Amino acid sequence: MTNQRAMVLDRPGTPLRMRESTMPDPGTGELLIAVTACGVCRTDLHVVDGDLTRPKLPIVPGHEIVGRVAAIGAGVTGFAPGERVGVPWLGATCGVCPYCRAGKENLCDAPLFTGYTRDGGFASHTIADARYCFPLGDSGDDAEIAPWLCAGLIGWRSYRMAMGGTKAKGVALGLYGFGAAAHILAQVAAWQGQQVYAFTRALDDAAQTFARSLGAVWAGASEEAPPQPLDAAIIFAPVGGLVPLALKAVKKGGRVVCGGIHMSNIPSFPYALLWEERQVMSVANLTRDDAREFLDIAPKAGVRCVVTRYPLAQANDALADLRDGRLQGAAVLIP
Ligand SMILES: [Zn+2]
Ligand SMILES: [Zn+2]
Repeated sequence: MTNQRAMVLDRPGTPLRMRESTMPDPGTGELLIAVTACGVCRTDLHVVDGDLTRPKLPIVPGHEIVGRVAAIGAGVTGFAPGERVGVPWLGATCGVCPYCRAGKENLCDAPLFTGYTRDGGFASHTIADARYCFPLGDSGDDAEIAPWLCAGLIGWRSYRMAMGGTKAKGVALGLYGFGAAAHILAQVAAWQGQQVYAFTRALDDAAQTFARSLGAVWAGASEEAPPQPLDAAIIFAPVGGLVPLALKAVKKGGRVVCGGIHMSNIPSFPYALLWEERQVMSVANLTRDDAREFLDIAPKAGVRCVVTRYPLAQANDALADLRDGRLQGAAVLIP
C-alpha cells in the first residue's frame, strides 16, 4: 500500500510540515478513510496559532473531512468499502459522564476532537472512530460538502440555539462575521423563511455583496444599526467587541449566540444592553444528532458552498489566507 501523507503541526506558531509515513491500519471500531477533501476551519487556525492550548502534539489538523472508506476495523458495522463518509470535530465521547448520559455529548468530560486531540484530515488518509462518522451519500462535490462538517454543523447548532425552539418564520436573524459558517447558515435560514441580516467588517463590500447573493435581506458593517431590531443574533467572528454591538441590535428577550471556540476579550458594557431579558450564550462543539439533522436538511435547502481549493501541500497558504481574511466562503484542501 502507498504511504500516508499528512501536514503536521509540531509546535503551535510554526508552519505545518509534510510527513510521509507507513499507512496505518484501523483498530477495533475504527475506519481508515482515504481523504478526498478537508475544509479549513477557523478552529484549525486557533490550533496552529496556539489560541487553543491543549492539542495533542504533533497533530494533524483538519475536522471537515470528506473521504471514502478504505479499510474497516474489527467490530464496525454499517459502513461499506468505498462508501463516502464525513468526519466532524466531535471525534469521540466517553458515553458515561453526566453530560453524555443527559444527551449533551457536546459537553462530554472526556471527549476527543478531530484535528486537535486526535489526528485529523489534513492528510491523504485518516483514522476515525466509526461511531462518529457519517454516511454522505453520493450526490454533491466532495470539496463543496467538506465545509458542512464543521461550519455547517456548528452554524446549525448555533441557529437552533438562537431560535430558542421557535418554529416561527420571518425571524430577523443577525449574523456577525460572514465567513464559512455564515455563508452556509444564511442559505438554510433564508430557505426556512427567515430574514438574514449580515454584518461584516466596515467597507467590506465584497463580503456584503456575497451575503446578499446568498439570501441576506440586508448587509452592512458590524457597527451599523440594522434597519430593524433583530430577534436574535449569532456571532461567528472571533471578536469579543461584537457582543455589546449585537446586544444593542437585538430586541427585548433576544438571544446573542457566540458560535466560535475562541474569542478575544469581551469589553465591559452597560447593563442596560443586557436588561429586558436579553441573553448571551456560547455554543460548544456538536452532538451526533446535530450532524444527522443538518446533513439531512442541507441538501433539501440546496446549500451550495463557495470554496477555494488548495493542494494538501499548500495547507499553510490556506491557513494564511483565512487568517488574513482573503477568502470568500471556505478553504478546502485536496490531497
Ligand atoms: Zn462524556
Ligand atoms: Zn471547525
